[in-house]
Formats: sequence, structure tokens, C-alpha cells
Amino acid sequence: MNHIGEPAEPLVEIGETVETGQVIAKSEEDALGSIYHSSIEGKVKDVTNEAIFIKPLDKDGLPIQEMSPESEKDILKLDEDDSLSLIKAAGVVGSGGAGFPTYKKLDLDLGGEGIVIANGVECEPYLLHNKERMKKNPEDIITGIKTAMSLVNANKAYIVVKEKEKKVVDVLTNKLKDEEKIEVKTVKDIYPMGEERAIIREVLGKLLEPDELPLEANTVVLNIETLLNVKRAIVDRTPVVAKDITLVGRIGEGRTQKPLFDVPLGTTIEELIEESGGLSNSVGEIIMGGPFTGQNVTLETPVNKTTGGVIVTLPLPNREKMKVGLLECGCGGQGERLTELAEKMGAEVVGTEKCKQAVEMKNGNLKCTNPGECPGQAEKILNLKKNKADAVITGTCADCTNTVMGVAPKLKLGVFHSTDHVNRTMGDRLVRKLKE
Ligand code: SF4
Repeated sequence: MNHIGEPAEPLVEIGETVETGQVIAKSEEDALGSIYHSSIEGKVKDVTNEAIFIKPLDKDGLPIQEMSPESEKDILKLDEDDSLSLIKAAGVVGSGGAGFPTYKKLDLDLGGEGIVIANGVECEPYLLHNKERMKKNPEDIITGIKTAMSLVNANKAYIVVKEKEKKVVDVLTNKLKDEEKIEVKTVKDIYPMGEERAIIREVLGKLLEPDELPLEANTVVLNIETLLNVKRAIVDRTPVVAKDITLVGRIGEGRTQKPLFDVPLGTTIEELIEESGGLSNSVGEIIMGGPFTGQNVTLETPVNKTTGGVIVTLPLPNREKMKVGLLECGCGGQGERLTELAEKMGAEVVGTEKCKQAVEMKNGNLKCTNPGECPGQAEKILNLKKNKADAVITGTCADCTNTVMGVAPKLKLGVFHSTDHVNRTMGDRLVRKLKE
């Protein structure tokens, strides 16, 4: 998924040569949508409903390198006049996973009293590219924030990071010492503190309903990389042609956890992994995203504008014929993902429950009424026990998983969390043991 809204229509044909930064696909002019630019200089090999395949002219293929003033010279520049048009023309969308077109988010007036929140929480375990970007380019992030503040007529901004990220806090605080209107705020290191409404609750003390937008709190929330792309669109006049990601797990020697900056859009996961040492033996899943909400993908899957992590796990445990109950979360693992994990373990699903704070939205997805604040899971676990489950596969937030552990073992139910195989891959403690 690259953006929310109308799909983009291809603007190039097979055989055509394209330059880096050339527009290759675009949504209809007046529709909510986005614009796509070639991330390399190359020749169009194929055009489908899902993708445009471009063969690089450079025989070395896709260079995975950080953008620099030098490399930016090779990207076609934007020539729009005003800030909002530049952001639209650059194809900036929410980089944190939502993919909402940023020009639309910034096309409003908060009346001089609004707030911009820069979301640097990166609450999915193991992901660290936002954190590292804040350390590398704090001035660029701050420029992006100032641009957003000016566009939406806000008088205050907060950069929100996890409290354990002391180095990030120090770097940002130092850069902000002469800025009265921008402050750093910290939140607990617990999933899902990076959820938009969780951040607003923690920073502004206002709990929004699941269907309410940040605007209800006179606020706009933007991901760190989105703000970097806003700066690049306005100051450098470059479109979005690359993505920061974090590589995690069984890649190369031992365990990998490293950020990759400015990976050209369209690079396949296979290319990324090969460049980082190749796959280790005994691979389980390849997940695109974070451990809680990522999706299982293949090596051919390309990096897109919302890709966060690429995680290679060890194989899932074999639990053939085990009867399992599923416990869904509004912010973490939901029905489809938990069912997929049960199938991969060879288990039989005998019941499904959802956390009582997980409510169904119009699109069928679940959302939490109060993210990360557990209502207690005893009733749900008892229901799964009544369905004759031997074990529970839960996708719950960290706080709720602790309450699952308060009940399930007493009923002689095993517990698997949807992130267990990722934590085991990294030799880390499991989510459900958070308070031990
Ligand atoms: S309270 Fe329930 S729905 Fe909300 S994040 Fe925790 S497990 Fe998910």
C-alpha cells in the first residue's frame, strides 16, 4: 500500500526511458491521491495495475545509499510555486504506515491555536530508522515541523519520542534551545504509544473516540520521515523517491537490526537482503512492517512509501492439531493475521474473541477505544477455554498481554503472542513477560 485514496494511473509506456524523479503515475487531479516518481534512471519494462517495472540504466542496479547534496543533483526538481503545491507534487504521504496524502492533511487552518505533533515514537519493537534519522538530521525535521506549523497556522509543536531514547532527546533539545514554540515530549516504552490517539492522550490529555480525527483536538500528527519529506519538497524541491527502513532478524551473520536510509522505492526485499549479507538458514516469515502490525510478504515485494521494517524470523513452532483460541486487538494482531499464524503452526482455531476495547470500524478493521490501557482479559480467556482451546494466540498490546498471563496459565491454557517468533529471533524476552 502506497497511499490512501484514489489509485494512481500510469503515465509511462513500456520501452520509455525515464529519469530519476520523473512523474510516472498520478491520481486524478481533484481526487484524494498521490503522485509517483521514478526512483532511478532506467527503461520501463512493464506496466501493470499494481506496479511499473523499471530496469536501471546503471548496470550496478539500485544503489542503496543515503541521499546527499551530491546525489540529489541527479533528481529532477519540482517547479511548483507554493508550499502546499510542492508537497503535493512531491508525492508526500504519511510514511509511518497510514499513507494519507500529506498535502491534504496540511490543507487546513487551526486558527493560530493549533498544535503540530511530530510522531517519533516508533513504538513497534526493533524499528529504529525514525530514531536514527532524528539523530542524523534534526535540523531537517525541525524545518519540516516549522513548515507544517506555518501551513496549518499552529502556534505550538511537540516532537514525541520514547522516554528511553535519551540520546535523541538530547540531540533535539539542543537543537531546539532557541525555539520557544517547539518542545520535546516523552512517552513510555510500551506498545502502542505511537498510535495517533495514544500520543494525543499522552501529550495533550485528551482521549479521542476511535472515529475522531486529531483535528478534534486541534492537532495535526505527522511522522518524522513525513516531515523530512516535507522539508525535501519545499527546500530541496525533490520528490519522494526513497524510504528509510529497518532491517531486522535472520539476515547475514547472526542477528541483524540496522537502519537503511534512502532506499530507492521499488527495491525488492530480496535485493535489500542480498546487499546485507543474504538470508540465514531456517527462515520462517518475512514481515514487512513491525512485529505487531506487519504483514507477511515475499522476497519479490517492493519497498513502498509506507514500508517501515523488513523482518526475517525463525520458523514458527509446530503445534499440529493443537486447539487454539484467538484474541484480537484494535492496535495489534487482528483476525486475519492471527488465523494465518495459527495455520502456519498447524493449529486448529476453535474460537475468536476480541479485546472489549476493540471496536469495529466502518471498513471492518478494529480500533481501540483507549490504546494500551488494559480493561482486563479474564472474561475473554474464559470464553476461549469454554470453546475447548488448549492455548491462546493473542495479538494484544503489551499491557493487555500481562493480564492474559494473569488468567490463562491458571486455566492451563498455553499463550502465544503474535510477536513471539520475532522476539525469539532476536533472542529477546517475550511481550507477555513485560512486567517480570
Ligand atoms: S486495550 Fe485491547 S484493543 Fe486496546 S490496545 Fe490493548 S489489547 Fe488492543
